[in-house]
Amino acid sequence: MTTSSSKSTKPVYRMSSAGACPKKLGWQRLGKIGTEAPAWLDTAAEEGNWHEQRIKNEMRAADWQVYDEQREIVLEYPTFLLVGHIDGICEDRESNHYLLEVKSMSQFEFDRWMKGKFEVFPAYAAQVTLYMAGTELDKGRYVVKNRSSGYKDEFIIEEPPTSLESIVNTITEVEKLALSGQVMDMEYDPSSVECRRCEFNNVCMPAEVVREERDLIDAARLWREAKALEVEVNSKLALAESVLKGHLRAHSEEGTKPYRYMVSGLSVAGYVTKEKEVSYLRKAGYQCRVTDTEKERE
Ligand code: SF4
Repeated sequence: MTTSSSKSTKPVYRMSSAGACPKKLGWQRLGKIGTEAPAWLDTAAEEGNWHEQRIKNEMRAADWQVYDEQREIVLEYPTFLLVGHIDGICEDRESNHYLLEVKSMSQFEFDRWMKGKFEVFPAYAAQVTLYMAGTELDKGRYVVKNRSSGYKDEFIIEEPPTSLESIVNTITEVEKLALSGQVMDMEYDPSSVECRRCEFNNVCMPAEVVREERDLIDAARLWREAKALEVEVNSKLALAESVLKGHLRAHSEEGTKPYRYMVSGLSVAGYVTKEKEVSYLRKAGYQCRVTDTEKERE
């Protein structure tokens, strides 16, 4: 059922975060203050608005109509309201109407998006599902732009990507617990991006119980230092190999030094691999190998 958010005194849950961790929603509902959001979030939001307008203008130039931008939509349930502001509604030349949702992402986020789309971004799935319910539109046009490359993943959503019922059931439970000052019992998951970025993760994380054990503290420091070195080593290796192997490939193509050269005791060799069935089908190709001949003599 739709209503206006200003006419109700029920607690409001935002559609854009309705698919977030229910424990986080509970704490937000109880007014708990988490850690301050990082400054890059504001910058990312500003960038997002800029890209959104640009994408809409490109659509208009391609004969789409875009309207109802930032229109408030509300779904009312017995104990709460779900409120959202849509990016807009768009209409093609054949007068088909779609909910329009535009996202823009950093390279890192876009790579995550392309790996699993709504499965990796369940909050986006919940958001667009609620927007479709709130606008009563059965189709959506979804645009995800990579801010680094400009590439756009655009598609038509033929049906809501997640279950409206399960979103509503979860928030009903969050609200019920909140009325008695409780939140859902969920554990911090170090492999989850949502947990790592969560404003409440310092509360959720397991208590640090080994503060006094010097050897563990030293090992943690060493691990962190080694990881930092690993990043440095890998980036230096990648740079050196791209130059060494690039030279080999360039000269192989010219035919002047087809398969090998030496520099500062390093042997850089190229060889052709044939297609072969190993535990997988290894495709035919051209490989390069760098060997330190001085190290071999040590
Ligand atoms: S740290 Fe993880 S489990 Fe805890 S509230 Fe945040 S998202 Fe939920």
